[in-house]
Amino acid sequence: MRVVAALLCFLLATCTPPKTEVRETRYVFGTLVEFVIRGADEATAKHAIAAVDRDFQRMHKDWHAWKSGGELVALNEAIAQGEDRAVSPFVLPLIEQAKRFEDMSGGLFNPAIGNLVDVWGFHADEPPQGRMPDLAAVRALAAQAPSMHDLTISDGVVHSANRAVSLDFGGFAKGVAMDMAVAKLKTMGIENAIVNAGGGLSTLGDAGERMWKLGIRDPRDWGVIASVELMGGESLHTSGNYERFVEADGVRYSHILNPHSGMPVDHLVSVSVIHTDGALADAAATALTVAGPQAWTEVAKSMGIVFVMVVDKQGTVYASSEMLARVTFEPGKALKVVASEPLSQGVVLSQMRQSVSPSIR
Ligand code: AMP
Ligand code: MG
Repeated sequence: MRVVAALLCFLLATCTPPKTEVRETRYVFGTLVEFVIRGADEATAKHAIAAVDRDFQRMHKDWHAWKSGGELVALNEAIAQGEDRAVSPFVLPLIEQAKRFEDMSGGLFNPAIGNLVDVWGFHADEPPQGRMPDLAAVRALAAQAPSMHDLTISDGVVHSANRAVSLDFGGFAKGVAMDMAVAKLKTMGIENAIVNAGGGLSTLGDAGERMWKLGIRDPRDWGVIASVELMGGESLHTSGNYERFVEADGVRYSHILNPHSGMPVDHLVSVSVIHTDGALADAAATALTVAGPQAWTEVAKSMGIVFVMVVDKQGTVYASSEMLARVTFEPGKALKVVASEPLSQGVVLSQMRQSVSPSIR
């Protein structure tokens, strides 16, 4: 009898290994991506993380705006030559999504401005050092008004009516990637996870019968300014002026550009957005940074964003009343917090994911 019991224990131990928390970190998209998986056995979690990491490597190659060897760079080269080019289903949905986000943001979010990002020196691994671009070149590029709507797609072949278009998905690719990562984890049997690429993350399930609690970075001192709880399926994205910039003559020029002028924006130092569509949250965080202190609420409304918090140059925090109800500010920090108007009117709060997922074959 004792032998049977021991065997049963042994079988149970091997069949149902303890469900733990698995944490792993990968380096991709020029940043560290952290996976936290809860409630799954370790082997399943590690297997799923490895699969997502393979997807990440492909995204890194094929969605890269300036490192040659991938699809996007090849497409940009074709556009510059005035040639059409066939694009795979791994890239096409991002073009469609980018068009939609450009429209929703009134043109403030514009992934067709890769040449402007390049001329400012941001198509490099290291942020540019003390070098201002030729402003006449900046104006000339902006005057060519590259837009996602210059692109037409027929049978998977992309044609651009404007050779000045150069695609740079840096403003929303992390959002797409984090969403695809949690979707893949789910198909591989994971129920609770968070995939966090620093400025952007997506969640799945819960943190052990609790919501996921995340910190929003303080743009002023690198600590945390506030924490917020996310439900499974929500994403949080933060755009920061402070993240990448060129400093010339004591002035910081950010990597986020106003597509109309071609100039870096500098009124808001950080914008955080929560939405169930991570790609949209990422695009909106970038777009609202461009919109600035006067227009961010309007642009949030036009993009269907309800949960937003922004920090301006003076360190004042503004947040939609819906967001204020969710955040807890770090105790002990001297903060001026201003509630802005509510943004939820007209927006269906139970927004579903609207992303068109790229297919991985
Ligand atoms: P994020 O950190 O998500 O705000 O993305 C910033 C990146 O988006 C920059 O490094 C550029 O590659 C790209 N970008 C800059 N300005 C814009 C813009 N107005 N619209 C879309 N993408 C932009
Ligand atoms: Mg963004």
